Amino acid sequence: MKLCSRCDTKFEPKVSYQIYCGVECRDAATKEKIVERYQITRRQKRKGKNRMCLGGCGTSLSIYNDDGFCANCNVSKKAVDKMIKEIKGFFDYDQE
Ligand SMILES: [Zn+2]
Ligand SMILES: [Zn+2]
Repeated sequence: MKLCSRCDTKFEPKVSYQIYCGVECRDAATKEKIVERYQITRRQKRKGKNRMCLGGCGTSLSIYNDDGFCANCNVSKKAVDKMIKEIKGFFDYDQE
């Protein structure tokens, strides 16, 4: 018996190199690896570039920043998003 590398379930391997209990775990693990690699190359491409915060505050962002906003502006961006949603809700209501 072996333990699945992903979900930790015991399984009987059909081949000696099998590390996942089934197709589901194998596919999910493959997808996770692709996403991981994609994020790494995406971050590597940011090297040497001076990325500024999209909030216009002048903070330069690290290559690990995925959303384009610094920590400070990320908070206000969320607040703005929420406000826009509320305004939209208001207009939707108005049109009925
Ligand atoms: Zn599994
Ligand atoms: Zn900022």
